[in-house]
Amino acid sequence: MATGVRRVALLGATGSIGRQALEIIAEHSELELCALASGSQPLDELAARHGVEHVQVGGDLTDLLEASEPDLVLNAVVGFAGVEATLWALERGVTLALANKESLVAAGDLAVAAWKRGGGLLLPVDSEHSAVFQCLEGRAPETLDSLVLTASGGPFRNHSSAELAHVSVEDALAHPTWSMGPKITVDSATLANKGLELMEAHFLFGLPYEKIEVVVHPASIVHALVRFRDGAALAHLGHPDMRVPISFALTFPARAATPVAPLDLAAGLTLEFEAPDAERFPLLRLAREAGESGGTYPCAFNAANEVAVASFLEGRIVFTDVAPLVEDVLAQVDGTPARDLAELVEADADARGRAEEVSARPPANGVRA
Ligand code: MG
Repeated sequence: MATGVRRVALLGATGSIGRQALEIIAEHSELELCALASGSQPLDELAARHGVEHVQVGGDLTDLLEASEPDLVLNAVVGFAGVEATLWALERGVTLALANKESLVAAGDLAVAAWKRGGGLLLPVDSEHSAVFQCLEGRAPETLDSLVLTASGGPFRNHSSAELAHVSVEDALAHPTWSMGPKITVDSATLANKGLELMEAHFLFGLPYEKIEVVVHPASIVHALVRFRDGAALAHLGHPDMRVPISFALTFPARAATPVAPLDLAAGLTLEFEAPDAERFPLLRLAREAGESGGTYPCAFNAANEVAVASFLEGRIVFTDVAPLVEDVLAQVDGTPARDLAELVEADADARGRAEEVSARPPANGVRA
């Protein structure tokens, strides 16, 4: 990465990550916004306020990136829509600060191949993966044993299966520890988010799935642990506040100060962990299976989940329909690996179409909203 001024392209500028990134950029004179993009929100006011010339709402963002010549792309787009930008940055070796986990999961091996060719930095903004990255800094790969990603368990951690069938959209959007956008908040409630993060960790750190464990940790203070071959484990702790991983990525390797308070252990801090319940939250198991099957199964998992979450938010299906919908789509597709972006886009569209069909079917149990 170039020293001195760092030109930042902020994709997903109006979302939760985007707004927090804008605050951090404003605090650092060496960070210069060179491009802004959003999915559908207008950007005129934001562009004028920050003096940004390169702006785009929706669509393929590669022309915007070409024109704006960033040193760092912060991809905070939601969902598969961010895939072109992720591949653009990885292919060119432009530093990618990745909050758009869906693009890495869906592109999978294609993204990893582009990253190898480009040879640039991939800095995870997902809190768990930023934590793993930090625990791994400077360690020899052969000393690594396994990773542990923590999950808050979401708002329905203690709900029975019967109770889960009747939760509302409002209930699902009330996350106990993290403040985030609607898509990821629903994903946190179903544990699909942790399933996506499991696959994200596989592609980021190159570990087989059996070496990546997920545990429920309701307080969200420990973000991840890395276990080493000598029996030692390093953990990353902090308040659940996305400004820390966003700032870490934007200012890497300087680890600039943030307004987030340090942990106060003397005030009392109890750390509890438990195994996730695969019965009530089947999306974590489905994600692991999709990841292990490889090819375009992770892409299909993501596409089906995106459709299911949108259907749930629109009141077309109930909460407990989300996992069966994804399972149904995964059973239909053949997971043929994509050789290029066009084939990947085709696999995504195919899974999306199947998911739309499943979500439009009349409910089997009659409880649909
Ligand atoms: Mg996360």
